[in-house]
Amino acid sequence: MTFNDLGLSAELLRAVSEQGYSQPTPIQAKAIPIVLQGRDILAAAQTGTGKTAGFTLPLLQLLKGKKPVGRRPVRALVLTPTRELAAQIAESVTNYGKHLPLRSTVIFGGVNIRPQIAALRQGVDILVATPGRLLDHVGQKTLDLSQVEILVLDEADRMLDMGFIHDIRKVLALLPRQRQNLLFSATFSNAIKQLAGGLLDSPTLIEVAQRNTAAERVAQVVHPVDKKRKRELLSFLIGSRNWKQVLVFTRTKHGANRLAGQLAKDGIGAAAIHGNKSQGARTKALADFKKGAVQVLVATDIAARGLDIDQLPQVVNFELPNVSEDYVHRIGRTGRAGREGEAISLVSIDEQKLLRDIERLLKCKVPKEIIAGYRPDPSIVAEPVTTGGRQPAAGSGKNHPNRNRTRPKNGRNAAARKPKLGRVAPRG
Ligand code: AMP
Repeated sequence: MTFNDLGLSAELLRAVSEQGYSQPTPIQAKAIPIVLQGRDILAAAQTGTGKTAGFTLPLLQLLKGKKPVGRRPVRALVLTPTRELAAQIAESVTNYGKHLPLRSTVIFGGVNIRPQIAALRQGVDILVATPGRLLDHVGQKTLDLSQVEILVLDEADRMLDMGFIHDIRKVLALLPRQRQNLLFSATFSNAIKQLAGGLLDSPTLIEVAQRNTAAERVAQVVHPVDKKRKRELLSFLIGSRNWKQVLVFTRTKHGANRLAGQLAKDGIGAAAIHGNKSQGARTKALADFKKGAVQVLVATDIAARGLDIDQLPQVVNFELPNVSEDYVHRIGRTGRAGREGEAISLVSIDEQKLLRDIERLLKCKVPKEIIAGYRPDPSIVAEPVTTGGRQPAAGSGKNHPNRNRTRPKNGRNAAARKPKLGRVAPRG
């Protein structure tokens, strides 16, 4: 199967080959022809499968084939849970659509709303957005969604997990009833099935990989180590193994900052990325990491969600996540699009239960390897693990216990404080 077999136009094929893709990934091979037929899809696909091109390429082609009526109305809406993911999808839309006369823009919270208003006023065919800021625009009457022909819900399970269900329903109510819907989700929980049931019209089900397959693709190892010596071990591993680009996960924002600072003292270029950082700082940290200006990016789970960094060779769990599924998302950052990756977890005595939970989810043991000189001191007893605000999920949607806490503080914006909208949490 080649891209030429999928029914894509010459402009899109050119853009694809300029990206250096020679073959469609399984999700692309399955989704593109169906989306081109104008059908709804329900796709089980995680980040890293090439799903973004899977919906973006046919979407561009469909829009290109039809002339918009009047001034450019928004004809395709892509909703995503996080700002980073929104920015990355928007970049993909720009890349794949660069030989087409279509306009796109991205809107998310945490940044000035005015340039977004200006972009919308100029008219865009494709809008990529996070739900909160999207509704702010609707509330300010700077956005009209009444001409949307195609709706994409990306990482729908994450959106529900982050408590966006009400926002999604509000957005759906603003769209024309007659439209094409593409729903992407890494998992098919009951909540997702319920959402899909009310949204999709005789969808084609596309499944390319079982959930948690990152675990099979990625070489995983646990290095048992005392909590106090983790930073030292990390610096040692980075130096001795000559790691050039490492994504390191911590449980808390404070922990991310502290670790980035400590690594810097060890002479290792590091930046932290988490919800308390301004959008500008997060974007800069990610850009510096991508171009190799910083060697280590220290991230919390929420901040890292959806990060697309090509050929990321190593992911380090400096601390195990409290939510086992987050481990799978974390290690999914490496071994992307079929490449080999390595996931290294530094595990202290306190984290044994978390490790057991993860292994239960993976349905396999992660191999353990003690690094010479870092054997844990057997006299140290386990202490309770600090949670950093994320607890094992007790369901999704508005009743999620951490709904408010998982939202970045700097997501607050003027509209979000308006009492008439009755918001309880700052939003993306
Ligand atoms: P996604 O799952 O959409 O986040 O894509 C994961 C990564 O795979 C991105 O870095 C894409 O640039 C890359 N990618 C997407 N499609 C292809 C393809 N057909 N061949 C090689 N890489 C691809």
